[in-house]
Amino acid sequence: MGALFVISGPSGVGKGTLVKLLMKEDPSLALSISCTTRAPRKGERDGKEYFFLSRDEFVSRIQAGDFLECDEHFGNYYGTPKSFVQTQLETRSVILEIDVKGALQVKENAPDTVLVMIVPPDFKTLEQRLAGRGSETEEERAGRLERVKYELSLKDKYDYVVVNKNLQRAKRELQKIIRKETDQKGV
Ligand code: ADP
Ligand code: 5GP
Repeated sequence: MGALFVISGPSGVGKGTLVKLLMKEDPSLALSISCTTRAPRKGERDGKEYFFLSRDEFVSRIQAGDFLECDEHFGNYYGTPKSFVQTQLETRSVILEIDVKGALQVKENAPDTVLVMIVPPDFKTLEQRLAGRGSETEEERAGRLERVKYELSLKDKYDYVVVNKNLQRAKRELQKIIRKETDQKGV
């Protein structure tokens, strides 16, 4: 059995960037690809960053019990496909990059789950990163930033909190956590 890791944190904090580095350096990890009803951003491909579904498709998959957890934010549905996670966990550790509410749902159903929150060094840096990414309108950015206080208020429920100031340092810290928790699982 592998360990199940959930990585969450405010939008723009660097989760996607860090997860990409982790996967590149340790191909034995499995990354769960979520389903979403939001439109693909420039450069995103179906089945790579997300499985992009229509609202109707998403709702039928909820009804079929296909999701380990799912949630609606910023007006779109997001969910973790159950079967992929269960199959992969038989042989290796799995990473889910999901929001705080989804994370707590997973932990409730599987208390062994390791919750890791990525936090920014400060709010201004977060604003700059989100704006620098340039993938949201100003209105969408404001909505994402409004949620930050709520997200950070849940950090005590997390097993680990990693500050993403220096990217390489944050990556190494995450690798240490993954190694420690995976070793405990005996993979
Ligand atoms: P998230 O997946 O959490 O929404 P991203 O990984 O898309 O965030 O990162 C948001 C932006 O911040 C990207 O442009 C990324 O290159 C940049 N970024 C991430 N980590 C750092 C860091 N430690 N220092 C500077 N910029 C960073
Ligand atoms: P984005 O639209 O920027 O890719 O993601 C928006 C938010 O949805 C982020 O906080 C991200 O972590 C979260 N998210 C992505 N996939 C899932 C999922 O499968 N379940 C839940 N609950 N949240 C998700």
